Amino acid sequence: MAKLKINNGKLSVPDCVTIPYIEGDGVGMEITPVAQAVIDAAIKKCYDGYRSIEWLEVLAGEKAFNKTGSWLPDETMDTFREYLVGIKGPLTTPVGGGIRSLNVALRQELDLFVCLRPVRWFKGVVSPIKEPQKVNMYIFRENTEDIYAGIEWLQGTPEVKKLLHFLQTEMNVKKIRFPETSSLGVKPVSIEGSERLVRAAIEYAIAHHLPSVTLVHKGNIMKFTEGGFKLWGYTMAEREFGDQIFSMMQYERIKRESGESVAEKALLDAKKKGKIIIKDVIADAFLQNTLLIPEEYSVIATLNLNGDYISDQLAAMVGGIGIAPGANINYITGHAIFEATHGTAPNIAGKNKVNPSSILLSGVMMLEYLGWQEAADCIVNALEYTFETHTATADLARFMSNSTILTTTEFKDRLIENL
Ligand code: NAD
Repeated sequence: MAKLKINNGKLSVPDCVTIPYIEGDGVGMEITPVAQAVIDAAIKKCYDGYRSIEWLEVLAGEKAFNKTGSWLPDETMDTFREYLVGIKGPLTTPVGGGIRSLNVALRQELDLFVCLRPVRWFKGVVSPIKEPQKVNMYIFRENTEDIYAGIEWLQGTPEVKKLLHFLQTEMNVKKIRFPETSSLGVKPVSIEGSERLVRAAIEYAIAHHLPSVTLVHKGNIMKFTEGGFKLWGYTMAEREFGDQIFSMMQYERIKRESGESVAEKALLDAKKKGKIIIKDVIADAFLQNTLLIPEEYSVIATLNLNGDYISDQLAAMVGGIGIAPGANINYITGHAIFEATHGTAPNIAGKNKVNPSSILLSGVMMLEYLGWQEAADCIVNALEYTFETHTATADLARFMSNSTILTTTEFKDRLIENL
């Protein structure tokens, strides 16, 4: 079995590469084989047999629990650790049993600090906004920190009373409105965590010739956590990327020292030279702007909780969770898990009507990550052509005019024909 390797931050990819996969629960067993069949057909078409993927099944979720008694067997983690890159279908979140979420456990174990969600519109897909072709964004959501890290205590417990006592007596905290009945949570945001996320976003913008990176935050209110993210992001960008970028922090400095017209000229010059513009925006204004002026944004770097909301809002703007792909990546170790972003959809499981595009487009992201761009483009073109000709699974076809509703397996056959 041929394994991926990483040397000095660069992936080395064998022509026949082994990719571990988790089939997933619910609709997972319908969408994962579809994605694999389309990916295999695209690779065959583009590389005429000299490249291929050998799929290696690993267990997680209900299937793992039924076979092994464990929701996330050690063997699964060891395989992902060893083979670097994998793909997964959606997993049922266990109720009780000590695991909050299998997805979170996978991210934490492999320190997959970037959740990358590209958001683009496909011709033919009906969108709730007027000009969906203007939406073209790459969301880099920090995956390991923030209030989302799950460090919290339930109101009334001895733990919360201890923390409250410390805050009130040692830290002089007086702002908790109803102390006796409050649950409390902790929001860790570090310099290293912020820097590595923003660094990955800037490197992505450089590699893909994208015009800007926007830091989205609520630093106006949470000055040391979200405000820290913004400041550390800007500072690292200037320190490490020098003349490849122009930051709005530089702009403000020039404006203070030499006036607005000089700052405007510096910004214009930087754009002309193809420098990446590093800017920032408050999260609530950003959400409005994504509807009003989406063309202003390209790569987005943001904290964990903001990123959660932003990813789903943007996905809805271009066709919903059925087609939104995602990946969790550690760009330093090379580990990456590409995934369907929706859940197990128990209400439609087993009915051959689920849309497999989310996991398929995650597979496209995986092919791009491996550097197999031709196969990735081939799938994207086939998908676009299929939607343009008003054929889709029920979730999308019902909004299209003169559409033909395809079952999941018919959709797979149509995509393979259209490759
Ligand atoms: P869901 O995403 O499974 O479903 C929400 C709605 O969207 C449902 O109406 C469903 O039919 C529809 N839908 C989802 N994916 C679709 C697709 N590909 N094609 C057509 N329609 C689609 O969310 P939920 O119902 O809140 O969660 C169900 C289970 O999935 C829960 O156990 C939850 O914990 C789990 N979950 C897992 C993940 C993951 O593994 N990444 C993500 C979210 C939820």
